[in-house]
Amino acid sequence: MMATTHVFAGVSVAALVTTVAPEVTPAAVVAVAAICGGFAPDLDLPADHRKTLHFPVYYAGCALAAGVAALVVPTTVTVALAMFFLAAALHCVMDAAGGGLEFKPWEGTSEQAVYDHYHGRWIRPRRWIRYDGAPEDLLLASALAVPGLIVFDGPVRDLLVVLLVVSVGYTAIRKPLVVVGEWLLPKLPPRVLAVLPERILPIEDGALEERSD
Ligand SMILES: [Zn+2]
Repeated sequence: MMATTHVFAGVSVAALVTTVAPEVTPAAVVAVAAICGGFAPDLDLPADHRKTLHFPVYYAGCALAAGVAALVVPTTVTVALAMFFLAAALHCVMDAAGGGLEFKPWEGTSEQAVYDHYHGRWIRPRRWIRYDGAPEDLLLASALAVPGLIVFDGPVRDLLVVLLVVSVGYTAIRKPLVVVGEWLLPKLPPRVLAVLPERILPIEDGALEERSD
């Protein structure tokens, strides 16, 4: 799923929290915590994507602990922390509902959706949303954006509108992007290819070693 879909999911929960308990924490703080939590796991894109910063079990545990803390001592900090971890946990669960880790995720050949550090294994992709940038992904992102657009205003609302526009653009270029990648990546010098994550390379196994010989 797109990073923006994850962000909108977190913001939907933030919109609910702000509506139910507006007096506890400033709406913007709840929204920003959800945006950060929804986006943060995907910062591992240049590293071991969906493993380095994806912690389905640990984020959920932290969300539970922070949630209890926020109920007992409802302050800006405890609510923001609960919101952050809840959005991050939701992100990881949503990744398992999407496609696998592969150059062309619509081909459905990967069995790796998100890494579960607690159990030490990859969770398989359910492919309810076939791949990031799929039409159904954009549909989900748009639906999840609605509560945030209704509840929040000012810069938060502006940011959500920008993210929605980015989602539409990404969906439009998702497959052409792979065509460009297939053409461009094999032309790059081996030194550059060596630092790129292996999963984004449309090159047969072993071809990279042959090229760098
Ligand atoms: Zn992710």
